[in-house]
Amino acid sequence: MRIARLNNAPEVFFSLQGEGTSAGVPAVFLRLAGCNLHCSWCDSKHSWGDSIELSPREVVTRLLEFPSKHMIVTGGEPLMQANELTELLLMLPRDYAIEVETNGTFFPSPDLLARVSQWNVSPKLPHAGNAMESLQLPVLTAFAALSNSWFKFVITGEEDWPSIAHLRLPPEKIMLMPCAADRASYRHLLPIVAGICLEHHVRLSPRLHIELWDTRLGV
Ligand code: SF4
Repeated sequence: MRIARLNNAPEVFFSLQGEGTSAGVPAVFLRLAGCNLHCSWCDSKHSWGDSIELSPREVVTRLLEFPSKHMIVTGGEPLMQANELTELLLMLPRDYAIEVETNGTFFPSPDLLARVSQWNVSPKLPHAGNAMESLQLPVLTAFAALSNSWFKFVITGEEDWPSIAHLRLPPEKIMLMPCAADRASYRHLLPIVAGICLEHHVRLSPRLHIELWDTRLGV
């Protein structure tokens, strides 16, 4: 399977979950390479093409070296490698909690649904500038029906809300977070996004990795 390459090594690292309902939880991260979208503000562009090939077994060996039974699979778009990911996850001990970050354009197989603890679905709004339609309503509706799914939207301001409302997702599953590439722009936008959350009765998600490490990758 293709793992994102960072500093000439496969991107597997131990850190804190930065976003969503488990923000702050220590976890081992696995960043898979390749994405079907190309968001203009993507903070993981290095994962789009450059990769290191490892077998699912080799990835499991690396994961087990870290002091955590909480795992975050991210990308790129992890579900582009659904078969390899399934093989990998089925090799992990059953007491591993597994979160998958996905852009919501693919729906997972029954095997993945049975093994993954939490789906962090982050649909990309028009301001991300993708050539293809990034909001796949049937896929998002199917995710919304799961008890262990959340929707995280990166937003630039109030003008993005109509695109979110149009999806008719359960408000209690929606989180908004600032579209920011660095700490200064994050801090500027956070109170604005907080106001939008209050206005529409949805959650605010932090982006702790930006607050803590600014633009650094692999943390
Ligand atoms: S979906 Fe995520 S990984 Fe893919 S281009 Fe957009 S921000 Fe980057």
